[in-house]
Amino acid sequence: MFASRSLLDRLSMATRILFSLFLGACACLSAETPASLPGEPTLIAVFYSFDQPPAPDVVATMQTEIGRILAPTGVRVAWRPLSDSSPAENYPEIMVMRFHGACDAQMPIIYSELGPEGTVHELAETQRVDGKMIPFGSVECDQLRRYLAPVAVKDRAETRNSVFGKAVARVLAHEMYHMLTGSATHAKQGIARASHSRQDLTAKTFDFGKSETEWLRNWRSRSLMAGEGLSPSDINQH
Ligand SMILES: [Zn+2]
Repeated sequence: MFASRSLLDRLSMATRILFSLFLGACACLSAETPASLPGEPTLIAVFYSFDQPPAPDVVATMQTEIGRILAPTGVRVAWRPLSDSSPAENYPEIMVMRFHGACDAQMPIIYSELGPEGTVHELAETQRVDGKMIPFGSVECDQLRRYLAPVAVKDRAETRNSVFGKAVARVLAHEMYHMLTGSATHAKQGIARASHSRQDLTAKTFDFGKSETEWLRNWRSRSLMAGEGLSPSDINQH
């Protein structure tokens, strides 16, 4: 429907779903940027939206922390607002992430947010189709804020957003790993572990384990060898 058989074979089902959903909004995307060369970071695009305007320092810290987490893998994120239909670029992977609730830790912490860890629901998730993870996910900022409240309440007000932004980045990196692997499998340690403690999310650093870092490096190598990136123009040629 969208492309030649060989191209469709190359595209993951998730990517095809993504493009089918965003083709209308991104129909102007046609030009290409040069593929990343070995030694240069490989860019993957994260198209994002926030339910409510986020605190700017939460977003800035989140993006910086994602950069720090991914630096050892050779992968870097190109952040693109979901409403932005102008970029004409190619990426080896495109993800869509929605941020629900209030991504702002400056809001007053109320008593009901200080409950035990067990009362917290999902902090973030990746959608599945037929059991396969697809590159659509969400971060639940309200849940995350409640989860962190017992430790955040000890922080000075001016540092809460940077602590919160780091935590957002860590749960986001977890979901990005699911999207790239296409699998719900978890690791024994690090960001790809099945659950994150408050300590994990608020520690000075928290990273992928050695095996997962190696997997991400190999993913980057494979994407460089594959050469061609993905753009809506690829699937709109037929
Ligand atoms: Zn998971």
